[in-house]
Amino acid sequence: MSHGFNTRAIHAGQEPDAATGAVTPPIFQTSTFVQDGIGALRQGYEYARSGNPTRDALQTQLAALEGATRALAFSSGLAAEDALLRSVLRPGDHVVLGNDVYGGTHRLISKILGPWGVEVTDVEMSDLDAVRAAIRPGVTKVLWVETPSNPLMKITDIGALAEVGRSAGVTVVVDNTFASPYLQQPLALGADVVVHSMTKYLGGHSDVLGGAIVTSDEELAEKVAFLQFAAGAVLAPFEAWLTTRGIKTLGVRMDRHSSNARAVAEHFVGHPDVERVYYAGLDTHPGHELATRQMRDFGGMLSVALRGGGEAARRFAESTELFLLAESLGGVESLIGYPSEMTHASVRGTPLEIASNVVRLSVGLEDPADLIADLEQALPRR
Ligand SMILES: *Cc1c(COP(=O)(O)O)cnc(C)c1O
Repeated sequence: MSHGFNTRAIHAGQEPDAATGAVTPPIFQTSTFVQDGIGALRQGYEYARSGNPTRDALQTQLAALEGATRALAFSSGLAAEDALLRSVLRPGDHVVLGNDVYGGTHRLISKILGPWGVEVTDVEMSDLDAVRAAIRPGVTKVLWVETPSNPLMKITDIGALAEVGRSAGVTVVVDNTFASPYLQQPLALGADVVVHSMTKYLGGHSDVLGGAIVTSDEELAEKVAFLQFAAGAVLAPFEAWLTTRGIKTLGVRMDRHSSNARAVAEHFVGHPDVERVYYAGLDTHPGHELATRQMRDFGGMLSVALRGGGEAARRFAESTELFLLAESLGGVESLIGYPSEMTHASVRGTPLEIASNVVRLSVGLEDPADLIADLEQALPRR
């Protein structure tokens, strides 16, 4: 019988240690494993780049949460993306990328894979005709989707894009970092592969950098596993253990991230200093209806555009106390970011530029009244 999400988060891959009964599986902080004779390996373990029980425990746990057969953990989200892309792409191949995906993903494909002969086209993923038109039959190998997107929380239809990808023989990848598997299940909606920056909600405590590839396509998983081993950007045992520990509370954290973010979003609706709130949980958001179908809840990320313009937004981002001014997201503590000069500085002056009056909030798990009071005191004096 298959268990519910939170039961899997706590038990999948987390059997008590066979030797001692330790309820929490230990950290196997070792680089190598003794052999009982040449090539006689204990449970297949040989050298930690090819496999480590702590990494395996995390991989089993994560696969169970995404409803997949395989998960592979890497030293960062981008290291995971790199291994996936180099597993499926060859010189001359083409990638169709959402026009608002994580900037590092765009940089990886255009600046690193580009010189090796991979081409990329950015498209508006909510326009299915534009996606179909961007696909070059036989040449496009990957369709890369990120929803909700950063920082305007645009929602794209994973099921519809999976259909487009399938009929064109293209591998459909969903970066599920913002939603986490608790809020959104891309593989069940038809996607082929899920990518995570585990640095964010999966780790959940801003103390670990990691990434993962999750899929039920065994052939693809074998290729990515080979690159994990042969190129070596593996997740270290301690980081794997911290991530496993974080994941056990993912469900309760995402529920609270979502209710706190909703409280902040609703506070700013109609606020005299705020021009617009970007949060899919508001029924005025263009993606609200789709998000309601596709997600369990709307998550902990939102953005607000201030009426006072760029100067007011900058000052606001520098004036909060509980909301720490920092890159990243998804931790227990609230963070504030100024996209036009932080996450999206590299796209200034392009069509992908983010308006200078937008600030992004990663709403943490503090008491919502304190968070709202902190944001209020940071607003420019009227
Ligand atoms: C942070 C992030 C990444 C990159 O992950 P790292 O762990 O920083 O390498 C990829 N996608 C999204 C949506 C992210 O937020």
